[in-house]
Amino acid sequence: MAATGHDYYELLGVARDADETAIKKAFRRLARQLHPDVSSEPDAEVRFREVTEAYEVLSNSETRALYDRYGHAGLRSGGFTPTHFDMGGLSDLFSAFFGEDIFGGRGTGRARGADVGAEIEIELVDAARGKTVSVPFEVAVDCGTCRGSGVEPGTQPVQCRRCEGSGRLHQVSRSVFGEFVRAQPCPDCRGTGRIVEHPCAVCRGGGRVVESREVEVEVPAGIHDGQRIRLTGKGHAGSLGGRAGDVYVLVHVKPDPRFVREGNDVYSQVDLTIVEAALGVTKVVDTIDGSVDLELPAGVQPGEVRVLKGKGMPVLQGFGRGDHRVLVSVAVPRRLNDEQRRALEAFEAASDEDTYRHDESFFEKLKSAFH
Ligand SMILES: [Zn+2]
Ligand SMILES: [Zn+2]
Repeated sequence: MAATGHDYYELLGVARDADETAIKKAFRRLARQLHPDVSSEPDAEVRFREVTEAYEVLSNSETRALYDRYGHAGLRSGGFTPTHFDMGGLSDLFSAFFGEDIFGGRGTGRARGADVGAEIEIELVDAARGKTVSVPFEVAVDCGTCRGSGVEPGTQPVQCRRCEGSGRLHQVSRSVFGEFVRAQPCPDCRGTGRIVEHPCAVCRGGGRVVESREVEVEVPAGIHDGQRIRLTGKGHAGSLGGRAGDVYVLVHVKPDPRFVREGNDVYSQVDLTIVEAALGVTKVVDTIDGSVDLELPAGVQPGEVRVLKGKGMPVLQGFGRGDHRVLVSVAVPRRLNDEQRRALEAFEAASDEDTYRHDESFFEKLKSAFH
């Protein structure tokens, strides 16, 4: 008796004239999506059974012909019964059928250890030079007392009665895919074939303990905020000899209030008074290499940018460095006393067009034409 009254083609989302390949493809896609082990939708199991039934009928030319002519009633009179299967451990069947594990290699045995995340914060100037930083983190490692076995030293595990020490249970199942002998890990001993009656007191039988570690990390020059450094094999220990996971160190580069970083370039600002700008001045300017003297000629204008070539951040894992661009800012006096006011008024009276004329040389004209 069919479990669903829904249209099989609609359930699989295929056209009535879909060929075998298209039907298989559609089922495969839906099976991945709806399998109760991976789907969190509440009706996933019901829908999974429905699409499996639809696939069972449409993948067989006899039942498909019957269904095409007479619908669900035709199948009933033809004596069709959809397979009933247990929902647990279906991935074995899928892998036999599709030739791969569609749920991505679960199972027991040797496994790679999990990755560990860690974070560090460094100054921008350290990001420019590169720095060695101590990074503390915690990892799960094999328990030293029982050497990862979980068994209290001096005692022995006993053979699992359920699987008689084989670690696997064999089960024959009939399904849409045919008949399979399925070997599943024994749930009592979790596939080990042994039962630990006296677990290790240190790790409580888990075989793992948490260990604090501190590793020196070479932060490369030119690193950007938010980049990660991978420490291969420094993460959690693998199980049954599987390799250890990795540690990913997230690097925060602290903003430096003196600078703005943009890619490999660094920007900063130099503040002049109107008098300094008018008379010319030498200013001490901070760069990531330290301070430098910056000569600003008489008549330098607000908004001008002085480029210190190659004084920016180094290119990460590359050659050369970005530039340091210094933006010229000129402050206009906000409050004047009488004496200052008279001086400025006298200055203004003595000024003419020539005082503010921009002496643009031919070269400067050429440059501005390209901006
Ligand atoms: Zn067992
Ligand atoms: Zn232990």
